[in-house]
Amino acid sequence: MVANLYDAGEARDFVARLGPDCGEDLALRVYTSQLIGRDPGLVLHGGGNTSVKTAVRDAVTGEDLEVLCVKGSGWDLATIEPAGLPAVRLEPLRRLRGVARLADEEMVHRVRAGLLDPAAPTPSVETLLHAFLPHRFIDHTHADAICVLTNQPDGEALIRDALGDRVAILPWIMPGHPLAEAVADAFEAMGPSCEAVVLLHHGIFTFADDAESSYVRMVEHCARAERFAATRAVRSVHVVPAAGACASAADLLPRLRGAVAIGGEDGPRRFVADARTAGDLVAFSLREDAAALCATGPLTPDHVLRTKSSYLFVGAEELRDPAALRAAVARYVDSYRGYFDACRHRAAKTPTMLDPQPRVAVVEGFGVCAFGDDAKAARIAADIAEHTLRGKALAAAVGAYRALPAEDLFDMEYWSLEQAKLGKAARPSLAGQVALVTGGGGAIGCGIADELLRAGAHVVLADLSAERLDAVRRRLAGAHGASRFATETVDVTDEASVADCVARTCARFGGIDIVVPNAGIAHVSTIEDMDPAAFRRVVDVNLTGTLLTIRAVIPVLRSQGTGGAIVLQGSKNVPAPGAGFGAYSASKAGATQLARIAALELAPIGVTVNTVHADAVFGDDEVPSGLWAEVGPDRMRARGLDPDGLRAFYRDRSLLGRSVRPADVGRAVVFFVQATRTTGAALPVDAGVAEAFPR
Ligand SMILES: [Zn+2]
Repeated sequence: MVANLYDAGEARDFVARLGPDCGEDLALRVYTSQLIGRDPGLVLHGGGNTSVKTAVRDAVTGEDLEVLCVKGSGWDLATIEPAGLPAVRLEPLRRLRGVARLADEEMVHRVRAGLLDPAAPTPSVETLLHAFLPHRFIDHTHADAICVLTNQPDGEALIRDALGDRVAILPWIMPGHPLAEAVADAFEAMGPSCEAVVLLHHGIFTFADDAESSYVRMVEHCARAERFAATRAVRSVHVVPAAGACASAADLLPRLRGAVAIGGEDGPRRFVADARTAGDLVAFSLREDAAALCATGPLTPDHVLRTKSSYLFVGAEELRDPAALRAAVARYVDSYRGYFDACRHRAAKTPTMLDPQPRVAVVEGFGVCAFGDDAKAARIAADIAEHTLRGKALAAAVGAYRALPAEDLFDMEYWSLEQAKLGKAARPSLAGQVALVTGGGGAIGCGIADELLRAGAHVVLADLSAERLDAVRRRLAGAHGASRFATETVDVTDEASVADCVARTCARFGGIDIVVPNAGIAHVSTIEDMDPAAFRRVVDVNLTGTLLTIRAVIPVLRSQGTGGAIVLQGSKNVPAPGAGFGAYSASKAGATQLARIAALELAPIGVTVNTVHADAVFGDDEVPSGLWAEVGPDRMRARGLDPDGLRAFYRDRSLLGRSVRPADVGRAVVFFVQATRTTGAALPVDAGVAEAFPR
């Protein structure tokens, strides 16, 4: 339920903290904007916008300027700060009221030209609407309950019944100058008794001359709409019981994710998945009309950018049969192409079609799965899908869910000002891919993860030691943020533990495309003195552990059907062994041979298998190499050398005279992942060791 969260003490704190720099009006605007942003029943992920009209003093001329501080693009109301509400000179905006025609680009140009700070983010596409209304504070949301009532055949009557007659109601109008004019006209026609404007199929604006009143009106109108919808929700729905056992996320997501990937010469474009399995979402998936509701449009057109207009429905039949699942995706893609072809004449310049793949799937008996280029995009789509499905279920219980027609949704989806919200950043080369790196708590594992993350991949780092993983997590979170990687404990010598780790990786990101079996230990001993138990331990981790890791991931790669890359860690010791290091060298030679066999066996499913032969990599104090800490001193003593000279010894013996860093190994891994025409190969990363040259 939407609730009034306004707290006078909290409001005073905002004024005390922000007021001295930006003034009381803007401080309170930030406060109630955050209150709106905190409630997912009002807005989701960057949706909605707010403004305040206030005066600022020009620092140079000393004159007072009347400005509109309005939400800038790229800011989320939940976390907005004064910088997210850039000031625009109000008077030039007001002069645009009543002009005959104002093209979108010209509007943006005019608004940007009025910014006091030219470097500020571009103000909301609804800036003119905020400027044309006279009130000092204006709040705009896409509240679920308002959308439930307005996406109905008799939406206007329902809103009138729910909210009474102090509310103006407008049909769907594209945001921009025409909507701003229409809202101002509607307000003026009704006069000062007007407390809010509801836009059918879109959302609601409230306004007042103080921050609290405008916010409270928003909350009260939305709560009223919620209560009204609840009392009108009388239609029951037929729910079909789930046929057979429901799929687990670990089993389902790779199949689904593989089916929605887009094939390509340089490897497929893959998506990261985010699954939601709350009880009411499962119930939605079992509705008799689930597929029909999936085909209807969004609660508010803003959502098309994140979720596309319609969702893919995956029924029991498609769950059982991979060919049927692919056919269902193909039907979705065809229907998207049909929609684009039918509507593209509406755009001034024929636009380029966005990718036609679904972003949300409703899976019978399972729940919802959303897809994105990265975990954040998938999470946003999943959050919106949760609200949308609950909203559609409620709307169907109230009456009948009826979204905007396809043409209007197309206008929003292909509106240049809307697409600008997604940004123009180039897609990283490994975007949408998921990597599993074992031995992730050590120096090399950290270096590999760092380079994979830099290339845009998602990474699960698995290690025996939770403590070592903590150090790696701190470093990677600092460099890449926390959303694209996760850590898992695993014992690579234990089949069940490896299987569990693979399942958790699939449940978290939707599957696995890149496997880097990197866990390794060493033991220094001549063959003559070798303790057989120590030898077995080394073979168990380095060779059997590699086998178990690859073996557990193959079914995932197979069910995705989109190829993949396995990059093993060999060792410089494979081509150029050293005395006293038999256990390690033999285990790594075995792993290298295993890689060649895997390359043979997995080529038919498009999976490349390659090996990196690195020489000694030590890491640093924060993330050291556990292996070298243990065996380094013994290796030096075995050579009759001082253990303190360990790093210098390896550096100086190389042809290039340089140490091998974790990042060097990581770059070799990324190279093999990108080299989709290379398999069964080995690449030395050893700064040049002549004895390791191929013979
Ligand atoms: Zn809006």
